[in-house]
Amino acid sequence: MSNAREHFLETVLQYRFNPDEPGSESHWSPELDTAPRSGLREIQSEKLVAAIRYVYECSPFYRAKFDALKLKPADIKGIDDLGKIPVTTKAEMARNVVEHPPWGTYSPIDDDLWSRRGWMLFTSSGTTAQPRPFRYTLFDRDMWAWADARSLWAMGVRPGDKAFLAFGYGPFAAFWGFQHGLNRIGVPAIPGGALDSKRRAYFIDTFHPTVLVATPSYCLFLGSVMQEMGYDPAKSSIRLIVSGGEPGVCIPATKRRIESLWGATLHEMYGCTEAAPSAGGCLCHAEVWNERPNTHLLEDCQIWETVDPETFEPVPPGQRGLTVATNLISEGSPQLRFLVGDFATFTEERCACGMTHVRAIGGFQGRADDMLNIRGLTVFPSAVEEVVRHIDELGDEFEIVVYEEHALDCLRIVAEPRPEVPASRHASLVEKIESEVRAKIGLRPEVEL
Ligand SMILES: [Zn+2]
Repeated sequence: MSNAREHFLETVLQYRFNPDEPGSESHWSPELDTAPRSGLREIQSEKLVAAIRYVYECSPFYRAKFDALKLKPADIKGIDDLGKIPVTTKAEMARNVVEHPPWGTYSPIDDDLWSRRGWMLFTSSGTTAQPRPFRYTLFDRDMWAWADARSLWAMGVRPGDKAFLAFGYGPFAAFWGFQHGLNRIGVPAIPGGALDSKRRAYFIDTFHPTVLVATPSYCLFLGSVMQEMGYDPAKSSIRLIVSGGEPGVCIPATKRRIESLWGATLHEMYGCTEAAPSAGGCLCHAEVWNERPNTHLLEDCQIWETVDPETFEPVPPGQRGLTVATNLISEGSPQLRFLVGDFATFTEERCACGMTHVRAIGGFQGRADDMLNIRGLTVFPSAVEEVVRHIDELGDEFEIVVYEEHALDCLRIVAEPRPEVPASRHASLVEKIESEVRAKIGLRPEVEL
């Protein structure tokens, strides 16, 4: 093993407190979770310096970026020097994969190491043709279990719970992390992969899991399937939902719908395939009751920044920007200043739960990639979602269509009235959607029911 790799992994392990069991009833790693902010910065600095030596030595992609700027690992002496490192974008990584197929060189892992100590391959879910691959190791699996256990513990998951994971167990990273994090706490997992929704509903009714892990849109869908089958999800054994992968948890109307449908609290896990392992972020048991809850990030695991969408210059807490992560705990994917690209506003205020780590105010508002630009106006699909799901007479599903008419971009929203809503109400529903969307985004949409 190279010196730099060995030193980095040792440094990571040095700060992995409470690896197997919680340190207190309220916090899994109390020393880290409630550390003073100055202490957190010291940990970040030490890990960052070790990570940069490692990445410079073992990742040709990053070495080339450093060399092009005549930047040496020794120039980064701590977190205050972070800004000297340029931001890395998904497009750069995608180009790197095309130039060096099939893996690219942004990972400090090679075939030999991965075939001996590898754990899994995850790929980006992006819309580009060639997926960006990320090879994670057994070291990462262990860190993942620990970091996710911390997040799940902050939500209130405890021994005695049983979790049902409603996802396909495919190359999408997040749910595999949940699986190992739950097991680290001592919570068994009931896998819902390769089961259709009716079978999943039957599993919930029969095996009585208390925790449901699923995307927000799937929570709504699975709940409606249960109702069609004659079960009431609100009376089911589910008491807590862990969700991620979509902005739904931060959209008040969607959160309210899911929580009342299931009679359970809805918690966000936030992260990305590129800078795992670890959820990165979690919605704790204290914040979950707020209408616009703030989501925690684990700052000893990753350095989180928000940057200006145009210049990529860091913006201060309290100002909206795009999320950037520097991963401090991964052997397989220790990315430096990776542009995750979700809009967020950070606060450094201590949370009621006692955690001192930075939080995203109102959670994560959607990925910049999802943003539409219509006649010069910025339109987030989440804004339309908030309007549609706020109207009780409408179903959960909706469609946003952008089309061109006389060389102008136009917006059409297709929504579904609930079956019990009489046709005589439809015209006023159309009007309501039109005016509420217009008030939110400044553009009058065409509405179709
Ligand atoms: Zn909290």
